[in-house]
Amino acid sequence: MINIPSPLRLRLDREALVANWRWLAAQGGAAACGAALKADGYGLGAREVMHHLVAAGCRDFFVASWAEAAALMPLVEGVSLSVLHGVGEADMIAAKTLPARPVLGSFRQVARWRAAGEGRPCDVMVDTGMNRLGLRVEEALGGALDGLAIETLLSHLASADEDSAQNGQQLAAFRELKGRIPARRYSLANSAGVCLGTDYAFDLTRPGLALYGGTPRPEAAGHIRQVLFPEARVLQVRSVRAGETVGYGATWTAAEDGWVAVANMGYADGYLRCHAGSGAASWQTRRLPLAGRVSMDLVAFDASDAGAIEEGDWLTLDYALAETAERSGLSQYELLTGLGQRWAREWSAPGSHPEA
Ligand SMILES: *Cc1c(COP(=O)(O)O)cnc(C)c1O
Repeated sequence: MINIPSPLRLRLDREALVANWRWLAAQGGAAACGAALKADGYGLGAREVMHHLVAAGCRDFFVASWAEAAALMPLVEGVSLSVLHGVGEADMIAAKTLPARPVLGSFRQVARWRAAGEGRPCDVMVDTGMNRLGLRVEEALGGALDGLAIETLLSHLASADEDSAQNGQQLAAFRELKGRIPARRYSLANSAGVCLGTDYAFDLTRPGLALYGGTPRPEAAGHIRQVLFPEARVLQVRSVRAGETVGYGATWTAAEDGWVAVANMGYADGYLRCHAGSGAASWQTRRLPLAGRVSMDLVAFDASDAGAIEEGDWLTLDYALAETAERSGLSQYELLTGLGQRWAREWSAPGSHPEA
């Protein structure tokens, strides 16, 4: 096999990932801290994320679907994996074969599991205000769950990233459920919920975004480290004359004679057109603003202040998630999960940095 190097790479910082998990774990007090791995670990690569977090002590993981669960096999001994979308008719074979639990999220799913789950363990989601997945509180309290051996009872916060009265209402509803529905563990908080304090942590938290460098609430700012650093290779450096334009629609005009660096990356890689006007990259200590529109797989940066840049050099994109979300209008989640398959995902090698 020939090894064809990619002109795009995501540098992924294992130590930052682990440091973020430890910070989130500490915010949860005595609660265990799990990890949401859905959407291929928010685009970073679920297997690698799981591997690094297991090594750090994390034991509880969450994916969306059975296909995502299957992709994580075999599991390390003692690791728990939950499938957030529960179990449909078509999932039953996977659900009875794989060492993972469905998070039963409707009356029908509970009935299906009772009938065909062969007494295997399950989790249950009860809706306390999101109205997405989960049994209604009345259903849960009205006998729908009687006799079911529930490993973890979950609910999900709808507005935890805001100072909303809904947070307290969902907390109160979940406490009531905890008093009335037996389960081995109780879990309410995502990343933003973790930042709301230990009242929200119960037995197990399930952050996603903040593990991967997102800042869900102001409390996390300054504690959460950037994990993902997208880098693109310069395909060519070209001169532009004052008055010339760059790219589709001629939206950028060179003010003076200068240089642009054209890189192997575009909206097909998840670097969307809304970065135009505010996107930038860095090379050594120089900042290179985006010049003109983003094409499908090409983008140009104004390199007039980076005189020595050459074809083949790597540019590091400005991609601090909170700031990038602010300026682009994309959410931090979209910034992570939108990055496509052409990026080579390269984790910092264990031991390449001194342990913190
Ligand atoms: C995605 C998800 C999480 C993680 O949410 P973040 O906001 O990324 O921390 C936790 N719980 C459930 C049910 C989810 O769907």
